Amino acid sequence: MTSNFKSIIENAYQHTKPLKDQGKLATYIPELANVNPDKLGVHMTKIDGTSFGVGDHLEKFSIQSIAKVLSLALAVKFLGEKIWTRVDVEPSGTKFDSLLLLETYKGIPRNPFVNSGAIVICDILISHLENAREEFLEFVRDLSDIPNLTYSDNIADSEKATGYRNVALCNFIKSLGNIKNDPAEVLDFYFDMCSLEMNCEQLSRTFSFLANGGKKLNDGKKILTSSQTKRLNALMLTCGFYDESGEFAFKVGLPGKSGVGGGIVALYPNKYTMAVWSPRLNANGNSFKGMKLLEDITTHSEMSIF
Ligand code: GLN
Repeated sequence: MTSNFKSIIENAYQHTKPLKDQGKLATYIPELANVNPDKLGVHMTKIDGTSFGVGDHLEKFSIQSIAKVLSLALAVKFLGEKIWTRVDVEPSGTKFDSLLLLETYKGIPRNPFVNSGAIVICDILISHLENAREEFLEFVRDLSDIPNLTYSDNIADSEKATGYRNVALCNFIKSLGNIKNDPAEVLDFYFDMCSLEMNCEQLSRTFSFLANGGKKLNDGKKILTSSQTKRLNALMLTCGFYDESGEFAFKVGLPGKSGVGGGIVALYPNKYTMAVWSPRLNANGNSFKGMKLLEDITTHSEMSIF
């Protein structure tokens, strides 16, 4: 990592840390209310393998919806183009847990990153894999090079106990014919998937295959074709931040994905991935300081895809 990049990241952290943040923790998942809201960390991994981080970048947090990109990657890897008949590729313009458009579009979610779309992807994985829960975990262990990665039972159980909207979404889609398995089984897998925990360093490394034409950085193993990689990155750009996806492209200028644990991962194809973590969320459910910090980095480095 060049010293130039290090000082840009360091300065962005120093600029962002003192900002006033009115955001709120995602207390609708009770376990996430126990997190220190003032945490802030950032880590960049370049595709030459060098990496650099500042602040709370080595502390684990709940990656939540960021995992939706990884479940989609597994589904695309196994099923190819067939999945696009079950979930669309259009921005939703709605909140991540909205029921609104499902009736209009007859149970086909607008994209795989809103909750409804990710729930359908979980259903697809259950239909096509022997043991989706285990095989997804193995897939992420391989991508992240964290051999002992496990689901967080505390977080999954906490969300299972209160996830009424997701239960409603899954049942509603089932009634419209686009969930093939038992809704309870699909939801269990969805909550487990969202419960994975990583730190910024691990998250930026896990996503580096998407900045590297679909190949893992450390061993060159091919995860996705370059065309599939292009599609996932395009979806992150257009749908990764729900009804704030336009704002993120406008301010940060990179494909990315957020989670209600306060994490964001963003990447520049053929150059780098970055992960940030700050738990206070804005009204759209995206990390307020996380977005600010990334905006500062792409502005000062003049390295956005635009
Ligand atoms: N598990 C969370 C939920 O379903 C994921 C949402 C998110 O991170 N945006 O509500």
